[in-house]
Amino acid sequence: MKEMLTKNLNPSQAEAVLCTEGPLIIFAGAGTGKTRVITHRIAYLLSLGVVSQSVLAVTFTNKAASEMKKRISDLIPGVGVNVWVSTFHSFCAHFLRAEASRISLNPYFLIYDFIDQKSVVKDCVKELNIDEKKFKLSIIADKISRAKDNLKFPSDMAAEAESAGDFFGITVAKIYELYQKKLERADAMDFGDLIMRTVSALQRHSELLEYYREKYKYIMVDEYQDTNHAQYIFIKLLAGKYHNVCVVGDDDQSVYSWRGADINNILDFEKDYPNAKSVKLEQNYRSTPKILSTANQVVKYNNARISKRLWTQNPDNGSVTVLKAVNENDEAVKIAELIYSNAYDNKCKFSDYAVFYRTNAQSRTFEDTFRLSRIPYAIVGTLRFYDRAEIKDVIAYLKLIYNPNDNVSFKRVINIPRRGIGKTSIETLENFAQLKNMSIWQSVPFAQEAGLTKGPAEALNSFAQFIKDFSTLKNSGSVKLIVEKVITDSEYLKELEAENTPESKIKIENIQELISAVDDFEKNRSLDKSLAGYLTQIALMNDADSPDESKGKVTLMTLHLAKGLEFDNVFICGLEEGLFPMGESAFNDKELEEERRLMYVGMTRARKCLYLCWSTERKVYGKIIWNMPSRFIAEAGFKDESAEMEQNRKQNFQNRLSQGFNRTIIHSDSFGREQNFRSFNKKSFKAEIVYTNAGSYGYMSSGGEITKAERFDNPAEDL
Ligand code: ATP
Ligand code: MG
Repeated sequence: MKEMLTKNLNPSQAEAVLCTEGPLIIFAGAGTGKTRVITHRIAYLLSLGVVSQSVLAVTFTNKAASEMKKRISDLIPGVGVNVWVSTFHSFCAHFLRAEASRISLNPYFLIYDFIDQKSVVKDCVKELNIDEKKFKLSIIADKISRAKDNLKFPSDMAAEAESAGDFFGITVAKIYELYQKKLERADAMDFGDLIMRTVSALQRHSELLEYYREKYKYIMVDEYQDTNHAQYIFIKLLAGKYHNVCVVGDDDQSVYSWRGADINNILDFEKDYPNAKSVKLEQNYRSTPKILSTANQVVKYNNARISKRLWTQNPDNGSVTVLKAVNENDEAVKIAELIYSNAYDNKCKFSDYAVFYRTNAQSRTFEDTFRLSRIPYAIVGTLRFYDRAEIKDVIAYLKLIYNPNDNVSFKRVINIPRRGIGKTSIETLENFAQLKNMSIWQSVPFAQEAGLTKGPAEALNSFAQFIKDFSTLKNSGSVKLIVEKVITDSEYLKELEAENTPESKIKIENIQELISAVDDFEKNRSLDKSLAGYLTQIALMNDADSPDESKGKVTLMTLHLAKGLEFDNVFICGLEEGLFPMGESAFNDKELEEERRLMYVGMTRARKCLYLCWSTERKVYGKIIWNMPSRFIAEAGFKDESAEMEQNRKQNFQNRLSQGFNRTIIHSDSFGREQNFRSFNKKSFKAEIVYTNAGSYGYMSSGGEITKAERFDNPAEDL
């Protein structure tokens, strides 16, 4: 077994796999097999007779966790499936439910996601009469989350803010306090609570701590560079007896400091365990030498890093190319053309390509272009399936059935579909509930006492009855049955059907998709098939979780979500100063270094071909902005090669202006070579560039047809 497992490892990897006892830190560059070491190490432990239930592996996304699980069970069929590979959040959610009675918690607590969280913050701001314009909800929600990442209670935040004379902080601390009260009243927890509550339960209940230390004798953490303080303490507590903890990470890939991740956790690891064994991995198995050296060249500009040697034996058959576009549409067209022609010649599959961007908003142009070009694509991240309004509605029904005290869900569905309960009625009832220290649900029987008129009060009662009708089904029935009953009996589906618009049809399709997902959950996905199990699972899904959607398609995602993944061909887009590096980060060394690490993460995802794309102008909030190429392009060793060509084109326009035209259309192919309209080739994609006095802008045509016609002064002469 040992030979079989180490056969596919290099000596350093094998050393790490075979070192099973005591603390171990693997601190190595991208693509050196860190994740591979973790899976092989678990398989090796199992082969030694360690029971699978005593191994815990933690990572950051469910996608990474299920991938890891699959690899372990491939290595050790049968036994591997029982290893608990999970994200920090899902581990803690399970822990809190299992131990609820011991730590005086309602085991049926709900998990609020970022959207729910913001809506509670909004309620708090309103209740405290705080000006929403001065205190942005997302900033407050973020500050509360950061406090939880650092295990700080509202009182800690208030004390710190007061001693620093920080008025903003003092106000946020007040909001934080009320926010916690509201969450408790609704029996809900946000993501930060899951970790923070687990940590404090382990700290306060020594018998629990002892039990879990005995249970998980072997602990492994992937992407350790992205852990925050709370997660760090959690691992430290759990590993406190046997010290069999293995962490792997890469300081150059730390990209979540804005979410509380603390790179010092790596340094602290060595302080906590002075006898920790440390293994270096230096051979990269993922990328070609050219890609690797370019990525290293860029990351070397960072001062705050531990220098590493990284080499590869992979053949030198890859490339790093700069693509320059005239605007964001042209950027998408150029990429579409490259992907399409390669896929057309069967050189590559669509799924071998990934397009990374810095901000979610950039995906829109790619979506439009790829749709026109008939390139199948999957977006990971933006408007996740579970964030769509209709899906959130149905889920809110489920949450309310599960826990009627959940005010957020109550308010979401009380008048969807319309039941004649207006905004004012709900506000009146909510104020009443607040006054009486009840949930809105609990105040329904007192609707008239609260001041509601007869109509809405009756409607509320029949709504309450509707929810109550699920009380038996909720504990014994199947989740699928509940969903089906919700959408029919509430007449939600009927209202959508009656609407009969393209949008409502898509919504119906999505709801049907939800039913299949629930079916899949009941049949295959989970041991806990209850409504609670289902709600926990979907609450903990994160942005990177749409594995099945990406088969046979080009992947579109933000750079942050690309961590740990690999693709043959990678496009990094929008490499322009101000976009990437983003905003003002260029003026702050710390932020700039984080942006550069993000660039490094993006570049090191590529196996064979890497494209660095930028465009000279880009529409931002409806305004055209002229851009400078990102410094990362220069740091990667590229000069602006096409400046000369651009100069020529401008000269051409100037000439025409002097001939009396006030604008002219120059058709160009995607390599920027000017072409005549008539030479359009049916299979490929062309961008048009329209020069006007105001500058230039472009739009695309596809399949030889111009998608938008444009008038110009003298067609005969112009074309
Ligand atoms: P990242 O830093 O991006 O998370 P990583 O260090 O976790 O990368 P892996 O994803 O484990 O690296 O490995 C990168 C690629 O190299 C994978 O395709 C993996 O299968 C391959 N690989 C790793 N080690 C070996 C090896 N010894 N022999 C062959 N292939 C290997
Ligand atoms: Mg990895």
